[in-house]
Amino acid sequence: MEFSEFAARAREIEDESADLETVSLVADLLRDANDDLAVLARFVQGRVFPAYDSTTLDIGPSLCYGALARAAGPNVGPEDVEERLADVGEIGAVAASYDLGGQRGLAAFGEGSADLTVREVDSELRALAAAAGSGSEDRKLDLLFGLFNRCSPEEARYLARLVLSEMRIGVGEGTVRDAIVEAFDVPEEPVERALQVSNDYGRVAEVARDGGADGLAGLTLEVGRPVQAMLAQSGAVADVLEEWGEVGVEWKYDGARIQLHHDPTGEVRAFSRNMEEITDALPEVVEFADERLDAPAILDGEVVAVDGNGAPLPFQEVLRRFRRKHDVAAAREAVAVRPVFFDCLHADGEDLLDDPLVERHDRLIEQLGDGDEAAEGLSRLWITDDPDEIAAIEADALEAGHEGVMLKKPDSAYSPGRRGRNWRKRKPDVETLDLVVTGAEWGEGRRAQFLGTFELSVRSEGGFETIGKVATGVSDEDLADLTDLLEPHVLAERGQAVELRPAVVFEVGYEEIQRSPTYGSGYALRFPRFLAVRSDKPIEEAASLADVRRLVGDRS
Ligand code: AMP
Repeated sequence: MEFSEFAARAREIEDESADLETVSLVADLLRDANDDLAVLARFVQGRVFPAYDSTTLDIGPSLCYGALARAAGPNVGPEDVEERLADVGEIGAVAASYDLGGQRGLAAFGEGSADLTVREVDSELRALAAAAGSGSEDRKLDLLFGLFNRCSPEEARYLARLVLSEMRIGVGEGTVRDAIVEAFDVPEEPVERALQVSNDYGRVAEVARDGGADGLAGLTLEVGRPVQAMLAQSGAVADVLEEWGEVGVEWKYDGARIQLHHDPTGEVRAFSRNMEEITDALPEVVEFADERLDAPAILDGEVVAVDGNGAPLPFQEVLRRFRRKHDVAAAREAVAVRPVFFDCLHADGEDLLDDPLVERHDRLIEQLGDGDEAAEGLSRLWITDDPDEIAAIEADALEAGHEGVMLKKPDSAYSPGRRGRNWRKRKPDVETLDLVVTGAEWGEGRRAQFLGTFELSVRSEGGFETIGKVATGVSDEDLADLTDLLEPHVLAERGQAVELRPAVVFEVGYEEIQRSPTYGSGYALRFPRFLAVRSDKPIEEAASLADVRRLVGDRS
């Protein structure tokens, strides 16, 4: 297709405001694309490279203005382009405002070069992206000038927008997906699926046209080509237990997402959550894969920055390592990272996206090994229906310096790019109450000399009524401090349980308050978590039963 034809179609699409009509216009474009189908499916979204490909044109505005000015003639400078841009606010309109045709058809561009084709634009832009090293800026400028120089105003409008990733004709990924469905009469589901595994609209359009639904079903993951990461929604323990019965619980590591590809030749590549390649910045991850993986695999996980003792550091430290292009060895010296993997999308030639989480996790263990020393780098998955066990896992995660827990549906598939309901990150407590500590229990084992599991009460007319117990959120250091603080108030001891004079107020986070016969108040906190001692608060200012009734919405 000639580029002028693409520009005319893009104009038509831009002028159309109705979504359905837009889809139909894009479908027409795809149907008429012939050999240029893959390129046009990308261009129409303002892309030159497929989504999985982190290659960029690396054309900054000034290079684009420079090329445009040069093509506009000897009297035009980049400042003029910028001035017009300030006036009209959009680079396409600026490009279209020049008469760039002065050198069109010059013999210098070879035979038949007067009419720019979509294919030529694509190959020139790829050559431009490939320019690297010294002199590459000049080469980019020359190539882009060469293209602008052959553009009519309308072509220049869309070329300028394309190279600056500002297409803005109202065509998003969903539009192209729907247009592929319409143009080639294939069901939506296999198209969506093929897009998820390939991340390449151009390729999916071609396969839909040439192979229909069966062809699309044949598209598989490819080791070395990143997949969009599955994402999580916020959620509460109580809700997922109710919805799913059993829950897969994992530590939520405070780092940055990583996707590791280990191909059959043993080559390792690592990608960020945005599918950018970051292999060179993270030699530890490559070493990890070299050591631990034998078969081809795609693993999903998190990279955590660690201090000299292996304890996690804030996630900003990881990001610094991700962005590092030079002096990686020095950066590594300053902050080490280690990967922890929690999912396996492909193992030894098999795609696992549709397998249940628990089975994918088994495959992950198979890939990484399950021995003691192998436990490093493998995120453990607990399957449980016991809220106390979840609370204990969370407490351990927090104590180890991580963020909390992820809650995952045990039989769920891996949905690339989706922020679905099958993965939930436990919401940080949205609610807190200041409660009086009226009891505690002596710990066991190494915690035997400390008070733990604190009984919490609200004020009531007759004194205090219990509303729950809290053990989560208390670190080993806290235990010692809290024991010192509370021991002077012990009134009585029965076995491990102690009764305390109401004197100390805890700030406690929780997910929900439920009615419950277990405690004297008639209510129970779900997922209580110790946050702080309110040494500034006298017990008279702690929450009352009336406060709790109000929160729950019960009339007193
Ligand atoms: P957020 O970034 O707050 O939306 O939380 C989701 C992110 O948590 C994921 O994208 C991962 O980068 C990260 N994460 C840490 N640990 C896990 C885990 N065990 N499973 C899934 N994601 C995790």
